[in-house]
Amino acid sequence: MTDSGKRTSREIGIYIHIPYCKKKCNYCDFQSFLLPCENGAADYIMGVKKELRLSAPWVENAKAGSLYFGGGTPSLLPLQYFREIVSAVEEQVLLSPYVEFTVEANPGTLSREKLRGMVSLGVNRLSLGVQSMNDRLLRSMGRLHTAEEAGEAFYLAREEGMENISIDLMHGLPGQTLDDWRTTLEAVIEWNPEHISVYGLNIEPNTVWGDLFLDGELELPGEDECGEMYRMARKVLQEAGFLQYEISNYARPGYECQHNLGYWYRRPYIGIGLGASSFIRGTRYKNYSDLGKYFQALDQDVLPIAEKEEISEKQAISETMFLGLRTAKGINQVEFTRQFGRSIDDIFTPVLQPLEKAGVIIREGQWLRLNPEYYAVSNEVFLKFV
Ligand code: SF4
Repeated sequence: MTDSGKRTSREIGIYIHIPYCKKKCNYCDFQSFLLPCENGAADYIMGVKKELRLSAPWVENAKAGSLYFGGGTPSLLPLQYFREIVSAVEEQVLLSPYVEFTVEANPGTLSREKLRGMVSLGVNRLSLGVQSMNDRLLRSMGRLHTAEEAGEAFYLAREEGMENISIDLMHGLPGQTLDDWRTTLEAVIEWNPEHISVYGLNIEPNTVWGDLFLDGELELPGEDECGEMYRMARKVLQEAGFLQYEISNYARPGYECQHNLGYWYRRPYIGIGLGASSFIRGTRYKNYSDLGKYFQALDQDVLPIAEKEEISEKQAISETMFLGLRTAKGINQVEFTRQFGRSIDDIFTPVLQPLEKAGVIIREGQWLRLNPEYYAVSNEVFLKFV
């Protein structure tokens, strides 16, 4: 463990997928099911616990630096299920004393009692899906909460001892103006959270908005306006003291999400649950996304793996580049050479030279990073490293 209490490179991340929601949002293509009642997930939770037991050989001697319940809406689960899953995790893997333990939550699904129980179980980070502080936009997104309820959920979590709260926000929404976006950013900053994630809307097929878009009935802000919203978030959040440590993520110093940093720095993690992904010993795995197949595998005492891909050195090099360039810190060139036996320049000089000349890529000491001015067009840059 480092002195700062941050995760070390030998630690793994653990992700638990909870695929239940109260209602489907109009833009969301995540696989999630409606939870008919609080206990409706009983079979699934049993499956998750069994998968954890079957994963034992993968996590032998490992220590978990982060534990992340994502979804779906994990905060819908009754406390008892959290307890059972946490015990099942602890049976297989040692949790670091500094473990970052996050639960994703939606306003309207958190009671004082549930929050108190989560904190006593060791949850020390809440990721709250606020999305907007404009009731008109929340309604059109199909969200179930109001701006006022989002604030109430935040303060309730604070009162119950949640000292690290992250807020998810979205821009580029149909009917959203620059003024709406500024108002949302300012309202959330007022709460003084530790972390804010800012995502641009993607229109996905087979969603309510995807269908409306195809029918020409969804009016979206233009590309320039979306770029303006992205830049506004950077300016307003940085002025409020948040550090942009990744293209879509801002944190108070010391509150960067360790679990997600693990993804960007290609640290090992295991994903448990429907459709969850894992990255262990250089191989990526993906679980079945079909509930029937997921349970069938578990019934036969085998891990519910649908896809397995051994990552070649060429792929590993590409991933290191485009994932590392997402982060403000960037890629450590010395570490890169140590890992791959060749320097970044040996491999990418023809790509790097024009990008550096144009100021798109910056080098500082050991680090090579994407100039934040180009974050809005980062995908075009990443493609050059694939
Ligand atoms: S609550 Fe989240 S996961 Fe569930 S449907 Fe809405 S956006 Fe998707």
